[in-house]
Amino acid sequence: MNRNKVTIIGAGMVGSTTAFALVASNIVEEVALIDNNKKLVKSQVMDLQHSVPFCGYSNIKVGTYNDVKDSQAVIIACGASQKPGETRLDLLKKNSVIIKEIMPQIFKKNPKAVVIITTNPVDILTNIAYKMFPKKKSQIFGSGTILDSARLRFLLGQKMLVDPKSVHAYIIGEHGDSELALWSTAMVGNAKIDNFYKLSDKEKETIFLQAKNAAYAIIEGKQATYYAIAAGLVKIVRAVLYDENTVFTLSHPLTAEFGLKGVSLSLPVVVGSKGITRTIDMNISNSEKKLLISSANKLKQVEKKICH
Ligand code: NAD
Repeated sequence: MNRNKVTIIGAGMVGSTTAFALVASNIVEEVALIDNNKKLVKSQVMDLQHSVPFCGYSNIKVGTYNDVKDSQAVIIACGASQKPGETRLDLLKKNSVIIKEIMPQIFKKNPKAVVIITTNPVDILTNIAYKMFPKKKSQIFGSGTILDSARLRFLLGQKMLVDPKSVHAYIIGEHGDSELALWSTAMVGNAKIDNFYKLSDKEKETIFLQAKNAAYAIIEGKQATYYAIAAGLVKIVRAVLYDENTVFTLSHPLTAEFGLKGVSLSLPVVVGSKGITRTIDMNISNSEKKLLISSANKLKQVEKKICH
């Protein structure tokens, strides 16, 4: 029987910050943290436990795969991050091995768990996980461009002097260099963005590039990004635990959207207690469609090259 519980695999920067954000948000009964590095996970858990008296009621513990048994959601935030001299493709090789090891262990313990992948490259890893368990399609997805969309909304909010929560604008496609912003559907409140604030094409491009390249800028100064992805993961977990049916741009295997299949990438979807419950029919421009198709082709090529 699933409880109001989350297991996080990976107690590094993303995993531990997400654990803290969950404890601080007071939405979970229990958080179990798993990591190969036993010393690290023990210390992270001790530190997190000491925040509980200031925050609320969550129980936080060093976990094992047995904790997956009664966890409604499992977050995968483990794996290699890029080292000097390593390519992104090297990262895919290493992390695809880890995903292939982890996924069977999760579903063996709990066939109903909703699995949220955040490890990079998130789209290809989501596709690999889905191909291992195609019947669990709705239960497996990646955090995808949830973070990129948040960065875009933040930057637009700053520029237009409006709360980013009132900016409904999405980045879709790969969580990475081939992603694209959907200007044709961007809204502020219930007005098309172009009717709310006049942004030139050049200004739009500058804002999009700032959102797309934010991770590079952050990593240059502090080696990793973790606060914003942790906040996004809390929102996704909330939608799962409380069956909120919230719309997010998440990476998931496509079936026929825009004529695309055999690839996972981000499009807006509805998330509830069973995972992704609905996709959204979007009317996007022809140039956006072209960019989306080329993003999908890039992901397919990389997956084929490295994983076959
Ligand atoms: P990190 O190096 O701080 O932590 C990774 C942890 O995974 C380490 O503690 C390591 O011991 C552990 N680990 C490795 N293999 C494991 C296994 N098989 N089982 C259990 N634990 C294992 O890295 P980080 O900064 O926390 O980033 C984690 C991942 O998240 C990276 O792939 C990073 O690129 C990705 N990330 C994704 C997003 C996103 O938006 N999708 C944002 C930030 C980071």
